[in-house]
Amino acid sequence: MSEIRLDRIHNRYVLIAPERLHRPSLGHHFTKNRASSTCPFCEGNEALTPKEVFAIRDNEANSPFWKTRVVPNLFKAVQIELEDISKRDGIFESIPGVGAHEILIDSPSHDTDISKFDKESIENWLRTIIIRADDLKNDKRLISLCIFKNYGHNAGATQEHPHTQLLALPIIPRSELVFLERNINYYHRHGRGIVEDTVYNEKMAKTRVIDEKGSFIAFCPYASSFPFEVMIAPTKGIASLSQCTRKNIADLALLIRSVFEMLNAQLGIFDYNLFFQTSPLNTNFQTEKYMHNIDKSYTFTLRITPRIFRLGGFEISTGMAINSIVPEACAKLLRGD
Ligand SMILES: [Zn+2]
Repeated sequence: MSEIRLDRIHNRYVLIAPERLHRPSLGHHFTKNRASSTCPFCEGNEALTPKEVFAIRDNEANSPFWKTRVVPNLFKAVQIELEDISKRDGIFESIPGVGAHEILIDSPSHDTDISKFDKESIENWLRTIIIRADDLKNDKRLISLCIFKNYGHNAGATQEHPHTQLLALPIIPRSELVFLERNINYYHRHGRGIVEDTVYNEKMAKTRVIDEKGSFIAFCPYASSFPFEVMIAPTKGIASLSQCTRKNIADLALLIRSVFEMLNAQLGIFDYNLFFQTSPLNTNFQTEKYMHNIDKSYTFTLRITPRIFRLGGFEISTGMAINSIVPEACAKLLRGD
């Protein structure tokens, strides 16, 4: 059974999920681009997954001919059925790992990746995320939503079929809670959130901006943790993907397409993590003081962090990244200047 334990020394939560040790191909390297008749995410193998919770399709559920498909994760880090009761044993404190862990299968095809998707496939992917986020939000126990992709061995992926993970938790991860606190203070002082102001300043500075489509901008952040890290954000604050209009989604899909074209041109096939930072799903004792102005203070972002080098002891012990390539140089290369 999984548990969320409090690390008192660092005042942060750790998700203890022993079931995840049984994941397929853990510890093995990928053989890139080889589909398998046993891959549970391939079209035609729908019977190998738990029943789908959502799919973009015109036909019967759990059959072939779909564009995106969402299934509960068999090797889930958290489970929705558990009671939400915290446990204490002296100094040690934990909450059962209540939550939802879903797999969004990005494509019926094994030999592809979002970095190769066309605009329409990216729009379908974004729409699927929004539909699931809106549904998970209905469970008021779920407070935060982590949406991420691991692509390639260096990025921690254990399944090579293109997929995205949605992890909804009954707590706010410590780093996000610290961000919410700083962000609300910043908003009260300046009338804008930290991300909105950062985006505005990156747009003015121009040197790290790599592209812009409609109301979305892509740049290599001033203090990037990884070489060729790219942040994508709306230029006018939008707190979550769910608040995007149809036009917003079309612009965002076009920009994601363009960013991957630039990254592919510089890096070829590369391992990466991709993740959204988005406003809390629901209010609890941790989030209530931030929710009042959330639509004005919060701006969602999407980050793509290529994993060219592995993390070492310095990063793990200090939580401080070492980035060996200047973000301005990365932006210049990506723009093709
Ligand atoms: Zn597959």
